[in-house]
Amino acid sequence: MRLMRHLSFNSLCFRLPDGGEKCQYALTFADGMLTLNVCSGTAREGRSMRNHITVFLLTAAVALAFGSISQAGAGVQQYWERAQQEDYKSPEELQAQHAREVRKGQFYRELMRGNPNAKSVALTFDDGPHPQFTPQILAILKKYNVKATFFVVGKMAKQYPNLIKQEAAAGHVVGNHTYDHVNLTKIPLGDISIQWQKGNDVIKRILGQPPCFCRPPGGDYDRAVITAASANGLTTVLWTDDPGDYAKPGDRVIEERVLRRIDNGGIVLIHDGIQQTIDVLPQIIEHLQKRGFKFQTVAEMTQECAETIPASKPKTPGSIPSLKIR
Ligand SMILES: [Zn+2]
Repeated sequence: MRLMRHLSFNSLCFRLPDGGEKCQYALTFADGMLTLNVCSGTAREGRSMRNHITVFLLTAAVALAFGSISQAGAGVQQYWERAQQEDYKSPEELQAQHAREVRKGQFYRELMRGNPNAKSVALTFDDGPHPQFTPQILAILKKYNVKATFFVVGKMAKQYPNLIKQEAAAGHVVGNHTYDHVNLTKIPLGDISIQWQKGNDVIKRILGQPPCFCRPPGGDYDRAVITAASANGLTTVLWTDDPGDYAKPGDRVIEERVLRRIDNGGIVLIHDGIQQTIDVLPQIIEHLQKRGFKFQTVAEMTQECAETIPASKPKTPGSIPSLKIR
């Protein structure tokens, strides 16, 4: 509506020798910066034209407003569709990458798995928050008194801050999954830190404190990605168990894959945004609880790992345990 304040409808009228009246009408924009002659005619015709133009401008303004709202909605939808097509590194690939780092003596602030001697697992939900799915996940976790970790996308968190508040209020850990959900190994070096930092800033604005954990989208990371995360105060968390729920293989398949691979210190990668995962979440939790597994957040898992790390382990400044993966 700001546009309307800068527009005016002016008229200049002449009395004709025959007693009639002729007017020139113009639309003037920004105090005469642009004048557009729109019509000429009698004063009555001018008033009618002015009404028509007012209706036209109001309609255009409303259409523009709706256009930008639906464009934002389309952007969110596109993000979720893209996120679900993401290519993930398999646990084996992550283990191989980690083994290479260890061979090179590179010990990063990263959590590959929890304590292999403890019967504990971490459920991690990526890609939210999502107004349709996050409340369902929170309700199930509450019912079973399970604490989990949510790796949230900054731009989604900004749109749904209340969901982030609910996650934190329920005792779950909120981690950074970048601001735009991009493959960090495919963007310019300088932008990597910006992604972590912007994600941190959004979470800090909502919760009052920045996150301590992050997860690179797709598990795509290299030295630059993990160093930038560390410089932003973040410990990178990967996973040991990926049932591929983003491909929607069916709730039974998701359940079977999670349970088949689960082991001590397991970190399960699932998604906030997949109904099949939600449908099968109660069964997964019940099954694991029956088998004696305890659920931890990645913060609890890291704490436990830090306590189990041998003192002789090579360390770099700010490093946390890179536990040996089987
Ligand atoms: Zn993701």
